[in-house]
Amino acid sequence: MLNRSRELSCPQCDAINAWTGEPAPDDALHCTACSAYITSYDDYIREAVRREVKRLMDSYRRPSPARELAILKRVLARPTQPYLPHVLSRPGQETQADA
Ligand SMILES: [Zn+2]
Repeated sequence: MLNRSRELSCPQCDAINAWTGEPAPDDALHCTACSAYITSYDDYIREAVRREVKRLMDSYRRPSPARELAILKRVLARPTQPYLPHVLSRPGQETQADA
């Protein structure tokens, strides 16, 4: 999951620090406890994106029995209807929206 709090622990003293506001790409985060340099905002964002992409790719690489079972249950719950993407509207929805 994406680190929404933007918290990082200090590599020197393990204190928790966080980005605040809208930092510029070359702004640096220094530890509030020991003043050690932690990272630049640009490097922080690159690492966060790299971790998130890896997490997503790993989730597709590993089969998820729970996700496949959920899809199978949806298909079996409606045996007379083909499994179509949600973007297709069913007949009758337009008339309800227009009424
Ligand atoms: Zn520190």
